[in-house]
Amino acid sequence: MAILKVARLGHPVLRRKAAPIPPDRIGSREIQQLIDDMFETMLEYGGIGLAAPQVHESVRLFVAGLHEGDVVSPMTDEVEMPFITVINPEVVPISRETETDWEGCLSIPDIRGQVPRPVAVRLRAFDRRGEKFELVARGLPARVIQHETDHLDGIVFFDRMKSFETLAFMDEFRRYWTKDDE
Ligand code: ZN
Repeated sequence: MAILKVARLGHPVLRRKAAPIPPDRIGSREIQQLIDDMFETMLEYGGIGLAAPQVHESVRLFVAGLHEGDVVSPMTDEVEMPFITVINPEVVPISRETETDWEGCLSIPDIRGQVPRPVAVRLRAFDRRGEKFELVARGLPARVIQHETDHLDGIVFFDRMKSFETLAFMDEFRRYWTKDDE
């Protein structure tokens, strides 16, 4: 296992459309290693999702999930989200309702901004065993799934913001924005 270098905004790999992984390659040593390393990297940096292009691999794969004791609040108060490995995702909104909430990104360190997204999505993808699965997600997990799938299409959360007025550095975010909704 290894902690991988995370590409930051401005690196062209973040703006490229990533290639699908042929299902018969999912079990390969290389892809399995990449998945393990991506989980390790995500946890090391306190992320709740990490897409392969963020570690300089332009393939359609992301990992996501919360673990206990993670320091990601106030984005995530008490939301359950198991660890998932998602390969070649297809994501379809299943709610017309959108919700605006804070997002951050390991490729855009130390910045938060409010992003509107559909509240619920259906995800179809392959898991790390190469098996197809389908799930419906709402709230934070739906948001994470959309954020990470965007990375596979060269989209970052700035592109989804309606205005940049809420963009904030982490210190200012904590100071001015986290107490509002109590
Ligand atoms: Zn991101």
